[in-house]
Amino acid sequence: MIDLHVHTTESDGSLTPEEIVRAAREAGLEALAIADHDTLGGYDRARAVAEQVGLDLVCAVEISTRFGRSATGRRRSAHLLGYFPAELPGAAFRAWLCELQARRQQRNERLAQRLQELGLEVTLAEASALARRLTGRVHFARVLVQKGYVNSIPEAFRLYLGEGGKAYTPLEKATLEEAIQRVREAGGIPSLAHPGRMSWDVSEVLGELRAAGLMGIEAYSSEHSPAQTAMYLELARAHDLLVTGGSDFHGDGKPAVRLGTGVNGNVCVPRRVLDELRAACARR
Ligand SMILES: [Zn+2]
Ligand SMILES: [Zn+2]
Repeated sequence: MIDLHVHTTESDGSLTPEEIVRAAREAGLEALAIADHDTLGGYDRARAVAEQVGLDLVCAVEISTRFGRSATGRRRSAHLLGYFPAELPGAAFRAWLCELQARRQQRNERLAQRLQELGLEVTLAEASALARRLTGRVHFARVLVQKGYVNSIPEAFRLYLGEGGKAYTPLEKATLEEAIQRVREAGGIPSLAHPGRMSWDVSEVLGELRAAGLMGIEAYSSEHSPAQTAMYLELARAHDLLVTGGSDFHGDGKPAVRLGTGVNGNVCVPRRVLDELRAACARR
């Protein structure tokens, strides 16, 4: 069993990098890719423990991007996974990630201000106290729950933090095409994360994304039904893309999602997925 998409406290997960490595080992995983949002910090911290416990730890990152606009003019967002299973990315790629984090920090400051304007006593410091490093909307959601403004994290997103919510503050993201290029330049494999979550039809633009340098698609995901998984496997074959997959485990933020197996065992990523990523890197 392998899991190529998990989050730690270095982004919006609830387990530390060290804890997630130990949990992965206990769950019987052979390989794990830490794919925190816009940072390699989780991977960097987890390396030593992974070596100690004999877990095959893969360097990865999940980048929040935007991709054009929908027919109705709504901002379309996409998550891009970058995998570095052979060689680690260099300083230029890390510097670019730092720039993305700085933009996130500015967004968070504006979001806190917006919540306060709505009369909700929520500060960035309170949200950041729940995050180890990278503060995301889920941390604001937890403060809203703790203070009794909402009953649950999904409700916090629906009423305040999500698109259409009263305090929604968009993040100035990289374009999907730029992120694909950056990952490739750094020697990595760009793969489109959980395509089933997109509000737009991925199948219509896969040819375009392939031409822009996309190399993979996350067919196996806890967000996919068996029919969706089959569809994305078929699309990967048709567009000559690699397949990737993982649970998108976040810990407490998404309690139904289990490490390695997803929601009620709906994820099972074959070992060959990682072998094929490594083979693709070796071919370059
Ligand atoms: Zn994602
Ligand atoms: Zn994710």
